[in-house]
Order: sequence, then structure tokens, then C-alpha cells
Amino acid sequence: MNPVGFRAGVLHGTSIPWRCFDRFYRLLPADFCEEPMESTDADPEMIVVLRSGLEAPLRRKIRQRLESHGAIISQIEATSRYYFELRGEIAAIETLAVDSWPGVEKVVVVGDQSAHWALDRSRPVQPIQVGSTLIGPGSFCIIAGPCAVEDEQRTLRIAASVAAAGADLFRGGAYKPRTSPYAFQGLGELAYPVLESAREETGLGIVTEVLDPREVESISGIADMLQVGSRNMHNYSLLKELGQTSVPVLLKRGFASTTDELLLAAEYILSAGNPNVILCERGIRCGAASREVVLDLGAVPELHQRTHLPVLVDPSHGSGEAYRVGALARAAVAAGADGVLIEVHDQPEAALSDGRQALTPGQFAELVPVLRQIRALTQPDGELIPEEIVSVSGGEDR
Ligand code: PEP
Ligand code: MN
Repeated sequence: MNPVGFRAGVLHGTSIPWRCFDRFYRLLPADFCEEPMESTDADPEMIVVLRSGLEAPLRRKIRQRLESHGAIISQIEATSRYYFELRGEIAAIETLAVDSWPGVEKVVVVGDQSAHWALDRSRPVQPIQVGSTLIGPGSFCIIAGPCAVEDEQRTLRIAASVAAAGADLFRGGAYKPRTSPYAFQGLGELAYPVLESAREETGLGIVTEVLDPREVESISGIADMLQVGSRNMHNYSLLKELGQTSVPVLLKRGFASTTDELLLAAEYILSAGNPNVILCERGIRCGAASREVVLDLGAVPELHQRTHLPVLVDPSHGSGEAYRVGALARAAVAAGADGVLIEVHDQPEAALSDGRQALTPGQFAELVPVLRQIRALTQPDGELIPEEIVSVSGGEDR
């Protein structure tokens, strides 16, 4: 059983989408009694449908087991079966595969209110502040810089170029999670003062990756946002540690992970107390693809529909090759991304990591205004629309 699938509104055991409580009752068997016996006013969080004719002892056992996990149960009696409505704290129960328990026919999660990541449509979505930049509704954020901090002069040069081109935040890895242990692993703490100088010289906030829970404290002193890379999306000790801080976290989707798993990884940080999580689609493995990675842009509208968390796209790791980065970045903006993360290097062929996918400062400078124009066209409420885009000659108001 997939707990997030539950929350997303799937009637288990069927493929019937489930959003609304009233609709649920229409789907129930004809013997369902319309007058709930013990029902309370609030909608239940979950409904457990018991097997028709289930004997009282097993029914009681199921009820007790659910109650022992903190749920408040109302029992509903139909002609030939019983239903339990569950209220209160059900997050732990969702992980228990209740639909596989003897005597249980199916389980429906009615709402996803209890998840910290879940979008609450009754409240406006607030952007998250990173340095002096906002990420989320009403703004579009461009994060750029080299894959890794290599040496000071080069890093400062690249930082100055992306700042001049209009980037909002500077990225550069002090620690690099590399597939090969023989590949450049980053300068570690030696990169900290370099990143600090980059911020001082450009005024851009700093985004850098954290690999190890033991580094969280020291690195959050120099970073405006900490990146959790694709390989670490499932590093739960790291996620819990980040949850103890208030530093914004850029959580990249594991390259073999579903969006449900991404949201549950975010839940680790959010439920530990840090509300500042920004999601990032960075490409996934796909068996049918001709390449190692496929940028899953469909995840952007999907995530926006399900969560209030901002969604960025990384077209650099999502393409793996510089010539594809611009096209995928443009598509990401059109798909509604709240921003992009782009690798830039002043000498890609000499880069110690990810040179193949790095844009040159010149290529990046050409791309930025295009992305901002696409953003203005596709989300005109969010930002000022350039005059040449809105002016229509000879038109009349309709
Ligand atoms: C990176 O941003 O340089 C990086 C290693 O990304 P990912 O974790 O998405 O592979
Ligand atoms: Mn990289």
C-alpha cells in the first residue's frame, strides 16, 4: 500500500478516483445505511470498509488495533457490513497496510490534510525567502553557478558573470556526491570562504549541497539554502537533521524516485519543524529512454496541484548535455516551474565535474531574458509583463 497514493485520493482496490466524501457514499454497496450511527460532524480522515458479514470479535480486534495507533473511530452499520470512520491522527495508520488486514475489504483516505506537504486550498500559498530572493508564487527564481567550487578566482569569476546576467542565487558545491569514488569530491570546508566571498562580491544568496548530517550545522552558517541532492533524497538522518533547522532546503528528486516518495522525503523535513522546503525535478531514469536521464516536466503541474511547496527544475542534470539545457529550461518555465537551477562554467571542457552539461557564461546570459519572457507570457499575474508582449495595436477591450 502506498500511503501517499492514499492521500492523493485513490479508492483502494478499485481505480476510482476519490476526492469527495459524498461521492464515496455513492460508490458504496447498496446495503450501506445512509444514516451513520456514530458519525460526528467533521469529515473522517479515513474510512475502513469491513468485509461483509464479518464476525464481531474480528471487528473489535480491528477497531482496537486502529485505536491503539491513535485514531478516533466511529462505527457505521449497514445492512450486511460495518464501516469504521477514522478521525484524528492517521498518518501512522496510513503506513500500516490496513487494506491487507484480515477482515478489511478496502480503505479510503478521504483527505490529505494531515500531511505537512499537502496543499490547503483555503489558504494562500506563501513564497519562501532565500537570502533576499523569494521562491514561490509571484516570483521566478534563477539559480546558477558551477557544479562544484573549484578554485577561488574561477568561482568568483563565474559568480560575477551569472550575477551580471540576472541570476537570483549562486550555486556551487563544496561537497560533491560523485558516482565514482575517484572523481573530484569537492573542496569541502575549504570552499566555505570562497562561497562567502562570492556572496559578498555579488550580493547573491548561496546555494550549496550538504551530504552528511554532521555537516549541517557548519554549512548552514554559510549557505542561504542547502541542497539535498538526488542521491540523498532518501537519506533520512540528513532530512531529519535539516528538519531541526530553519534554513531553506532545496530537495532534489531521487533519479529513481516517484513524486510520492519526493513528497514523503519533504515530509521528513517539514514534520520535524522546518517549513522551508523547495522541491526540484532533476530528471529520472526511464527504461524506454535513449538517454540516461529524462526530465519529468509533468511532475511540475502535478506537484503544484498537490503541494504548496515551490517546485524548481534543474535542466542541467535533467539533460546531461549543454546543447539540450536551453530547450529544457524554456520548457520548464512554460510548464510552470517556480525557477530553474542551471550549471554554468567559464571553461566547461576543463570543469572538474559536470562540464558536459555546463553552459558558458555567454550562453547563460542569452538564456536568462528568454526564460523571463516565457515566464511573463505564461504566468502574467505573477510578474510584470514586458511592454512589447502586452501591447496590441488597434485592439479594443472586450
Ligand atoms: C548537482 O546539483 O550538482 C547534483 C549533483 O545534482 P543531483 O543531485 O541532482 O545529481
Ligand atoms: Mn552537477
